[in-house]
Amino acid sequence: MDIFYVVGHKNPDTDSVCSAIALSDYLSKCSTKTNSDEKYEPAIQGEINEETKCALNKFGVETPLILTDATNKKVILVDHNNKMQTLDNIEKAEKIVRVLDHHPINFSYQEQIEFLTMPVGSTATIIAQMYFKENINIDKKIAGLLLSAILSDTVVFKSPTTTDIDKIMAKKLEKIADISNFEVFGLELKKAKASLKNKTPCQIIDADFKEFNMNGCKVGIGQLEVVDFEDFYAIKEQVSSQMKKMKQDKNYTLVLLVFTDILREGSEFLTAGDVDAVKKAFNISTIDGIFLKGMMSRKKQVAPLLENYYNKNQNNKN
Ligand code: MG
Ligand code: MG
Ligand code: MG
Repeated sequence: MDIFYVVGHKNPDTDSVCSAIALSDYLSKCSTKTNSDEKYEPAIQGEINEETKCALNKFGVETPLILTDATNKKVILVDHNNKMQTLDNIEKAEKIVRVLDHHPINFSYQEQIEFLTMPVGSTATIIAQMYFKENINIDKKIAGLLLSAILSDTVVFKSPTTTDIDKIMAKKLEKIADISNFEVFGLELKKAKASLKNKTPCQIIDADFKEFNMNGCKVGIGQLEVVDFEDFYAIKEQVSSQMKKMKQDKNYTLVLLVFTDILREGSEFLTAGDVDAVKKAFNISTIDGIFLKGMMSRKKQVAPLLENYYNKNQNNKN
């Protein structure tokens, strides 16, 4: 029997975990239809966050197994297509079978591959569409997880990454999942994740951290959703020192943390390293204490602006 591991990115978020589970379910159901002997196993690359835990508990779904190395495995990648965010030893995978994602394309592969991306708010949105289009039955649990992932990635439709398709899919899933008010449910999920209390500076930085290679510069961007900014001010100094240490130890050009207030719909930054890049990329004269209204998305706003800056400023490496 062939086993295919369906896996999301490092530092798993709700979309990457729920999409791995749902796509495994979808592909298993498709393979039953065609009588093929394939097994799809959802996997995660590390511990899940509080928000994801809340979603899995709510719908009674088990946490997927942890897989960090691709050696000799057949893998399907969801919610990422960037080598820096994927499994270790990805070049030693038996095969990358397919990629399903909603991030900018940053991928090359020597073989033919099924590669599907759409400019929508979450990977779960694409999977939900597949179920409906192919008329594959979605059970309540899977609908709940897909809905959770859409609400998580679009920050309950407040993120500029939100599209009409996300909203349409959420409406359909809401009924199947038997959720009476998805906005209330979305905020419940966000609050589970948002608490900064009882977390070490390292845990805060790592919670949702992604690494990028921007024109040869190693850039790390973390994002946290905050419900009460007083919590943020209380930990700011400690987190800042830890970021500086991390920049040195791991040789980053820039470490940027984005603290997003989902109710005021904007963010504050903390940086270590190339402060100049941040000022220029975001057209601000200072970083400390500046609230950037409307700045909600790492994928659509923060990362592209920095990438653009580094592409124009090649010499600025450390
Ligand atoms: Mg993700
Ligand atoms: Mg996503
Ligand atoms: Mg995300």
